[in-house]
Amino acid sequence: MPGKAPGDESIRPQRLGEFIGQDDLRSNLAVYLQAAKDRRQAMDHVLFYGNPGLGKTTLAQIMASELGVNIVPTSGPVLERGGDLAAILSNLGARDILFVDEIHRMPAAVEEILYPAMEDFKLDLVIGQGPAARTVKIELEPFTLVGATTRLGLLTSPLRDRFGVILRLEFYAPEELAQIVRRAAAILCIEITDDGALEIGRRARGTPRIANRLLRRVRDFACVHGSGLVDAEAASQALGRMDVDEYGLDQMDRKILEVLIHHYGGGPVGVKTIAVACSEEVRTIEEIYEPFLIQRGFIKRTPRGRVATARAYKHLNIF
Ligand code: ADP
Repeated sequence: MPGKAPGDESIRPQRLGEFIGQDDLRSNLAVYLQAAKDRRQAMDHVLFYGNPGLGKTTLAQIMASELGVNIVPTSGPVLERGGDLAAILSNLGARDILFVDEIHRMPAAVEEILYPAMEDFKLDLVIGQGPAARTVKIELEPFTLVGATTRLGLLTSPLRDRFGVILRLEFYAPEELAQIVRRAAAILCIEITDDGALEIGRRARGTPRIANRLLRRVRDFACVHGSGLVDAEAASQALGRMDVDEYGLDQMDRKILEVLIHHYGGGPVGVKTIAVACSEEVRTIEEIYEPFLIQRGFIKRTPRGRVATARAYKHLNIF
């Protein structure tokens, strides 16, 4: 399309060798992929878990290209009825990958269809109702289910137990994010210095998706207000204008800390209360904001609720 900016797909790594960071996960996955290829068998089912934007979808796509098979993407909430999943499963080719994003949001009835499919590559379908109902068994091609979820604990244990490989994605270090930013800048023809990439990497909440988004916005500022070159100063100024502070906290992160400290004396306070006070959904707070704030030591989770740490007070200049 004329004038259309290259989208996210253009910067998504296609092969394992282009995937930056997550070193242990990457080297283990390389072994499992090689073993499946050597045996010419469908790879065991894989579950990726970790915060949004850390690379779960990317890894699923990389698995397909490394194995030379098709990938069929879907997501838990989209699979409303058992028939939806049965149709997808029975159309899979031998060794294909079925990628189910947000797999924890799959309805229970759909999940039950998945069990025999994962275990024996069979579908048990009930046809008809009442006394006339009968079960039909359908043979499936051997396939690999790749599931993605934000937290392992959100999955039921029968589903979790059926994955042969469970891999956790961690937040990325600033230097790794800088490398991801430099790679994306090269693909998008953005001129950037090493310092500029590191400044973005430091302030991207440990998350490649955010790093890539910040890169595009910083480029906008650098083009309109400067020469177009993204150096440390241009990055820092642009990120300041976007209200992303030196730790990568944005307005909502700071609001959460402020609510905790100013309204509730630093806690402990329940996540529902925080969500109401911030006009945000509980799930968004729990899945997007909290993990990073906890990982960076701004809040602590206790049995009685969330507590602001000394670091949070210091960051907000409250003594
Ligand atoms: P998730 O499925 O975990 O939400 P994605 O796989 O969609 O995350 O990743 C978000 C974006 O970040 C992708 O468009 C991809 O370009 C980029 N990305 C993620 N992980 C990496 C990585 N390790 N190296 C380079 N780019 C990455």
